[in-house]
Amino acid sequence: MALVRKIIAQSTVDGPGNRTAIFLQGCNIRCAYCHNPETQAMQDAEAKEMSVAEVMTEVRKGIPFIRGITVSGGECMLQAEFLTKLFQAVKALAEEVHHPLTCLIDSNGTVPFARHPQLMEVCDGVMLDVKAWDSETYHLLTQARNDEVVKENLAWLLQHHLLTEVRIVCLPKRVDVEVILQNIAKIFDSIGEKAPARLLRFRPHGVIGELANHPMPSDEQMAEYAALAASLGLTATVK
Ligand code: SF4
Repeated sequence: MALVRKIIAQSTVDGPGNRTAIFLQGCNIRCAYCHNPETQAMQDAEAKEMSVAEVMTEVRKGIPFIRGITVSGGECMLQAEFLTKLFQAVKALAEEVHHPLTCLIDSNGTVPFARHPQLMEVCDGVMLDVKAWDSETYHLLTQARNDEVVKENLAWLLQHHLLTEVRIVCLPKRVDVEVILQNIAKIFDSIGEKAPARLLRFRPHGVIGELANHPMPSDEQMAEYAALAASLGLTATVK
């Protein structure tokens, strides 16, 4: 069983193509710019306990229009055992209906993927948020101290060809975007593998707290980040 906050039957913004997006309840960090603060609590009256079979009933409805599923949160890796069973069921369904389905994870990277080999066997990729590089900046932004795990996950996923995309929320003066890009490029170079980077413009919509009225970075600022990424040899898209 997992605590599910919501399921979007067909989403085009949660990974490549049309996908069923499943949002699990509960997160282990507290990002100041969180767009889904209602998913942070480990329990919530709006969330529903669902079995793999119940979630699969929703996934089946998307066949043949979906390319797969993406599980997000909150932090979905906090319910890794459920994810393993869900992904196994999706792969079995793909065989049954002769329709390829990929299983992606959208994660803040604070749970070590290497400790979940069975899950990684049936996972097609991870979209990994890199929130900050410097530990203090990470702590100020997330109230957490697990940034080293994120970096270890970045390298591990890349080595295992499971890094679908690195995501960076661009919030000038609060997030060290330039430093993140430089360090990601270093890791890519040292491993000899690459993954696309997605530069997400901070948007105050849905954000509560001190950043609720914070301005979005300008087009010029986003273009500067993209230019830096390109100069570092990264394939980056701005969203
Ligand atoms: S990791 Fe995601 S769900 Fe958790 S607090 Fe940060 S933005 Fe919100």
